[in-house]
Amino acid sequence: MNSVRSIVRQLPRRFLEGRQFHRSASLSQTAGPRPLTEFTDDELMMRETVAKFAKDEIAPVVRKMEKEGKVDDGVLQSLFQNGLMGMEIPEQYGGTGSNFMSTILTVEEVSKVDGAVGALVDIHNTLVNSLIIKVGNEEQKAKYLPNLAQKYPGSFCLTEPGSGSDAFSLKTEAKKDGSDYIINGTKMWISNSDIAGVFLVFANANPSAGYRGITTFFVDRDTPGLSVAKPEDKLGIKASGTCMVHFDNVRVPESNILGEFGHGYKYAAGFLNEGRIGIGAQMIGIAQGCLDATIPYTLERKQFGQDIFSFQGMQHQIAQVVTDLEAARLLVYNAARLVEAKKPFVKEAAMAKLVASETALKVTSKCIDFMGGVGFTTDFPQEKFFRDCKIGTIYEGTSNMQLSTIAKAIRTQYS
Ligand SMILES: Cc1cc2nc3c(=O)[nH]c(=O)nc-3n(C[C@H](O)[C@H](O)[C@H](O)COP(=O)(O)OP(=O)(O)OC[C@H]3O[C@@H](n4cnc5c(N)ncnc54)[C@H](O)[C@@H]3O)c2cc1C
Repeated sequence: MNSVRSIVRQLPRRFLEGRQFHRSASLSQTAGPRPLTEFTDDELMMRETVAKFAKDEIAPVVRKMEKEGKVDDGVLQSLFQNGLMGMEIPEQYGGTGSNFMSTILTVEEVSKVDGAVGALVDIHNTLVNSLIIKVGNEEQKAKYLPNLAQKYPGSFCLTEPGSGSDAFSLKTEAKKDGSDYIINGTKMWISNSDIAGVFLVFANANPSAGYRGITTFFVDRDTPGLSVAKPEDKLGIKASGTCMVHFDNVRVPESNILGEFGHGYKYAAGFLNEGRIGIGAQMIGIAQGCLDATIPYTLERKQFGQDIFSFQGMQHQIAQVVTDLEAARLLVYNAARLVEAKKPFVKEAAMAKLVASETALKVTSKCIDFMGGVGFTTDFPQEKFFRDCKIGTIYEGTSNMQLSTIAKAIRTQYS
């Protein structure tokens, strides 16, 4: 197949040749506000190409990856070759040079097929790459972005055994030693850490200043003193490697500080706000993938002499979850467009992640019901979609933390 990267570079001419999309559906055609479900030609092309990629290259190995608890090497290579690991990385650093909405659509399409690969693509692009693109200096971008676009995934190391929701009470310390820093501490639940080439580590370099001492460091995988424990055995997204990462007298030069000294808490909070929209996309992808696998069955399965979709009791439930999912999708797309428009989006991102993750749980649970007994077996994919989406209410801020963010915005609005 043609790589996503090469297709995007040829847009829009190649896209328009022989394709059935209507020009009127393109954002580029009409000025002024447009429906949230309309996309630019580039975005449509990206979505279609990623959907085909996921069907052709990820779908055949989904159960194998889940059994092995790791992303297939071939899939990982293809993600890099097709530009999906460098979505917003500028082309000059070997990336695809796409916009944020294209990243969101990519995460959604991949997650329709496998939520674990969706987690890999999402965290790598929306947390790791994004942070380096926005606050890295030229030297750091030249060193890391080409590798992150084409060679290895990155990890975002914030959470610790004693600090989850209360992330800024972290205990990992970075002590100055000449022109170096020495990092000591343990990070927990670090996604992609089984295969990451670089770790963005949040450590306190000035504990007397409290959370204002938190600073972000690049730590290369081969740095002495860094060790990654074996992946956790999880309920879902089993192929996404989640490990503890230990830092035992890890020495890094001062030049490994990402952005400004003491600004780590701002970066963590700010980029997690954006990352939450990616988790929302992962959730709506998982829910849609589950529905796509379920509704055809309800049209074929016969009970009482008719297909089970014909029963009004079934129709109403199906209509309800499809509507719930559409509402969640619109929240996710709206939050993404707010980011692109450089407008305030923190409340909207929290709402998108909250609703998308809770909706995905409802949709996938209902899909198991619609399937009857077979939905409860591993011969069918519904049970995996159900397990995979549970993480959405936990990582990048639990549902309670999203509600707290939304409540804070409401208080400000009415005070
Ligand atoms: C599979 C997986 C992948 C992850 N990937 C990463 C990663 O790549 N990088 C990273 O840094 N972290 C990662 N995490 C960590 C994740 O972000 C945290 O697990 C999450 O923030 C919750 O923290 P906790 O597990 O310590 O739960 P806790 O903070 O202990 O929360 C437990 C319960 O208490 C509730 N609670 C806590 N405080 C409040 C409050 N103030 N008000 C109301 N309720 C509250 C929570 O909502 C939750 O229900 C990952 C986690 C998992 C499971």
